[in-house]
Formats: sequence, structure tokens, C-alpha cells
Amino acid sequence: MGKTALVTGGSRGIGRAIAERLAADGATVVLTYASDEAAARETVQRITKDGGRAHALHAELGQHGAAAALWAAYDALGLDGVDIIVNNAGIALPVPLGQVSEEDFDRVLAVNVRAPFFVVQEALGRLRDGGRVINISSGAARIAMPEILAYGATKGALDTLTLNLAKALGARGITVNSVAPGIVDTDVNAGWLRGNAEAEAHAASLAALGRVGRPEDIADVVGFLASDAGRWVTGRVVDATGGAGL
Ligand code: NDP
Repeated sequence: MGKTALVTGGSRGIGRAIAERLAADGATVVLTYASDEAAARETVQRITKDGGRAHALHAELGQHGAAAALWAAYDALGLDGVDIIVNNAGIALPVPLGQVSEEDFDRVLAVNVRAPFFVVQEALGRLRDGGRVINISSGAARIAMPEILAYGATKGALDTLTLNLAKALGARGITVNSVAPGIVDTDVNAGWLRGNAEAEAHAASLAALGRVGRPEDIADVVGFLASDAGRWVTGRVVDATGGAGL
């Protein structure tokens, strides 16, 4: 592939699988983490052990100036431009309507929407023509889930960002898409899902394909969109829920 990719939140979970997939496809991958440096290092080691190229950068996305700081750190690696940006870092907010505080709302909006916006804005001069922007959304933007409604709203906003960026960047041959996972077995769901057979059976029953998603299920969709094979798909939300809410 010979390309370079930025994967935000690439240290754990879905982002790690995406980083590994893009590296396996030949990209030099820069992955970011917020707090878990050990996980980021481990992901880099996993990639390099398999013959790939990867770097880890710290980025506390959601804070003012974080996107500019991230790209400055990226430039300091000596990489010339970027071909693929995966806005994967995101936080959950499993809080129902009556209990969402203004601080909670601001935080989930800042990490899940404002950060991807400015990561792309700051990348405009670095992102090569023919490049890719892939935003990790959620089935919760399509399926009403009042128990996580503020989170769902951020992913709806992210999908609208995808739509507009696709139009704005299309003339440069840059595709912009969202990938929308359903329930995936990552740390974010570990508390209620792992080791709880009843919860897992319920989560599996929500997908037509009858199981909980794995990070690799999402990474393979991202891999397609990032590849040359994905060149004619833009401005879309690609459902990767295993058929949830059909
Ligand atoms: P995880 O919690 O497993 O991993 C989150 C990753 O994002 C970590 O690398 C984490 O870094 C990083 N991160 C978190 N907050 C920040 C921040 N403020 N700034 C920078 N990096 C940050 O999440 P998942 O892998 O489950 O989720 C990845 C994406 O997929 C998210 O956008 C999520 O909304 C979406 N998604 C997930 C679903 C699921 O069921 N898991 C379902 C639908 C969508 P660190 O380790 O340092 O904290």
C-alpha cells in the first residue's frame, strides 16, 4: 500500500483492530491514545512484530487545541502527509435523558463530534488527494436507544459531518464515509457484557447474524473503504451492526 494512516484511539478495542488491519495492508500507521500508554505501546509492538510500521502518539481529544497539537506531533515523526484518517476515538455516555448533566453532554459532544471535525480541518493541508476519511459512528444514530440518547445524537451529528465532508472534499478525490458498528466486544461494554451469559445472549439477539460483534468485523469494513476498492463510495454510512434493527 505504501500509505500513511492516522487512527485516533487506535490503542485498544475497535481502533486497535483498525490499526492492525491497515498496517497489514501495508500502511504506516500512527495511532493515538488518551491515557493508556501501555496499550498503545502493545499495539505498536503487535504491528511491528508482524512486519508492519506503527507509531503511537498521545492525544487528549475533545480539549481545545488537541487536534492542532496532534498534527504537530504527527509532523514531528517526519511523515510527509497522510492518506487515511480514521476518526475512531469516542466515548460512551450510558445515561438516560433525565440524568444527563450539561458537563456530560459537552464532553461527549467534544470527543465524538468536535474532535473529528478539527482533526480533519487541521489535516486539510496534509491529507493527500485521493485520500480517505472514515468516521466510526454507531448503529445508535439509526436505532432509537433512549438509554444512550445523548451519545446517539453525537453519532448522528458525526454522520452529518461525513455527508458534508464528502461533498467538500470530493473534488480532490477524497472519500469520506461513516462506519456504524452495533454492539462490539470491547472494554466499553466489558462491565455489562463479558462473563454475563444472559447479557451476551440478549446482545447477540439484537443482530440478525446472531452474535456480538468483534473489533475485526469493523476493521475489515474500514479496510475496504480505505483501499482502492472503496474508491467509489463516499458520503455514506456503512452499517456494520450484523443486521441490528432490521
Ligand atoms: P474503547 O473504549 O475500547 O477504546 C477507545 C479508544 O479511544 C482508546 O484507544 C482510547 O484511548 C481512545 N480515547 C478515548 N477517549 C479519548 C479521548 N478523549 N481522546 C483521545 N482518545 C481517546 O472503545 P471502542 O473500541 O469500543 O469504540 C471505538 C469507537 O467505536 C468509538 O467511537 C465508539 O463510539 C464506536 N462504537 C463502539 C461500539 C461498541 O459496542 N464497542 C458500538 C458502536 C460504536 P485510551 O486507551 O488511552 O483511553
